[in-house]
Amino acid sequence: MKYDAVVVGAGFAGMYMLHRLRKLGFSVRVLEAGGGVGGTWYWNRYPGARCDVQSLDYSYSFDEDLQQEWEWSEKYATQPEILRYANHVADRFDLRRDIQFDTRVESARFVQSTNTWQIENDGGDVLSCQFYIMASGCLSVPKAIGIPNHEAFKGSAYHTANWPPEGVDFTGQRVAVIGTGSSAIQTMPIVAKQAAELTVFQRTPAFSLPAFNRALSTEEVADRKAVYTEHREKARYSLFGIPDTDMAHGAFDVSDEERDAAYERAWQTGTLNDILTSFNDLLVNQQANDTAAEFVRNKIRSIVKNPDTAEILCPKHFPFGTKRACLDTGYYEMFNAPHVRLVDLRQTPLVSVTAAGIKTSSTEYDFDSIIFATGFDAMTGAIVSVDIRGAGGLPLKDKWSAGPRTYLGLCIAGFPNLFTVTGPGSPSVLTNMMTSIEQHVDWIAECMTFMRDEGHAVIEASEQAETAWVEHVNEVADATLFPVANSWYMGANVPGKPRVFMPYIGGFGAYHEKCDEVAGNTYDGFQFSGAVAKAEQPASAG
Ligand code: NAP
Repeated sequence: MKYDAVVVGAGFAGMYMLHRLRKLGFSVRVLEAGGGVGGTWYWNRYPGARCDVQSLDYSYSFDEDLQQEWEWSEKYATQPEILRYANHVADRFDLRRDIQFDTRVESARFVQSTNTWQIENDGGDVLSCQFYIMASGCLSVPKAIGIPNHEAFKGSAYHTANWPPEGVDFTGQRVAVIGTGSSAIQTMPIVAKQAAELTVFQRTPAFSLPAFNRALSTEEVADRKAVYTEHREKARYSLFGIPDTDMAHGAFDVSDEERDAAYERAWQTGTLNDILTSFNDLLVNQQANDTAAEFVRNKIRSIVKNPDTAEILCPKHFPFGTKRACLDTGYYEMFNAPHVRLVDLRQTPLVSVTAAGIKTSSTEYDFDSIIFATGFDAMTGAIVSVDIRGAGGLPLKDKWSAGPRTYLGLCIAGFPNLFTVTGPGSPSVLTNMMTSIEQHVDWIAECMTFMRDEGHAVIEASEQAETAWVEHVNEVADATLFPVANSWYMGANVPGKPRVFMPYIGGFGAYHEKCDEVAGNTYDGFQFSGAVAKAEQPASAG
């Protein structure tokens, strides 16, 4: 089959890409490994899974009727509610007819003689298309567990990113959780309510902030809906894809009391970024950052009653905000329960999983269930999981062997007509993903329309533009504290992965303007080649 575009992934990026292109008259096929839409929200069904961006922001803005009619029930939506929203969107825009579920893409090859991509899936079908679009998510491939003997465990083992759809009842069980990132921190307080014993295996403590989740009132939803257009426009030119707060001062421009009062106000909002954006130097000045980090550590010490446990939970290994903070409901409080214990893997390293449980350098523990919340091969994992070969058969894996290289996080030199939605080199995971997804999808759709109008068959980023962009991405990151941390932003959580800061930290608004400028300047930094007869343009497929 021949399509104008093949899109990989039916999460929020792939769904909007399909809708936008179809409306423009392009023929599109979406290939999705899961059995339904929703991407990350389809797979991450662990108890307690919620978005850490507020519901009224974490939703599409492209259709005024959609954003007016959908009713979010809580400040932070649960995974089931977000999945219902994804399904509602799929129904409302009749998306399913162009999505092939339970289909994993194995390889994609650019054929220069025909200027087409040949996409092969795990069913052995080969699809041909002009444009190949990876909308495969930034946190969609779990990293290898990498713990010796992990398959030897005779009890039940779970991974937060691939949770049984029917759910799990841990009542009366001895449960272990490995990892203390966002997934673990969300799920543990719920599991602790069921389990007879919960043992937390922590290697690096995270900074976690209270979500203060609650039901949304009718009034606040109505108030937001009344100004949704202006609110979304502010998000499009903000730092993180949600409207900015005032950041006029540095942390030492105010007195100690004023600084702590600002952090306290930010703590009380129950949002991910408010402490980080209390002052304008927290991500660039270690001393300034220390004030925020110590504020959060003092909160941990005030919540956790056992001072030794509190100290083990206090993050001291990286600056605040340089690994993504977590938002929780009752996480630190959970450690005050007598049946919850904390194992510090920095003191007693994990040796292996055993048939009965987990062995550390000091103790062997027995469990009924182990939950692995060990994270993802972020940002590049899903892209290179497909064997992508560009012009001349160049494998993308080889091109990216020292770290990802893209122009604007959208295109890759040597890989004509390939687009990556929220790819490395774009703000993506540092922002509200919905804002980033819509901006990328709109840019790609407009670029494809431009090519059709002009009769261009092929677009490719130039090596020169790509190199300049990669240097800029690195330069901006190097001016911050981000590279100090062993984060998944740096690829540091996956053994052997090149240590490169992958997202663009120059601010979403500035990035958005740069993308618009490039397009407005006849796609500066791109080369067009080949020709498509205008008569061959597809008729509207509505
Ligand atoms: P993560 O942040 O990468 O956390 C993984 C945890 O597992 C870390 O504590 C890590 O310790 C530990 N770990 C990994 N391998 C280990 C090993 N071999 N032995 C012992 N410990 C090990 O992964 P995540 O919690 O799934 O979250 C990833 C990202 O997904 C988040 O940052 C967030 O962006 C997104 N997410 C969002 C939400 C939300 O919206 N609410 C929820 C879940 C996830 P080290 O730090 O020492 O490596």
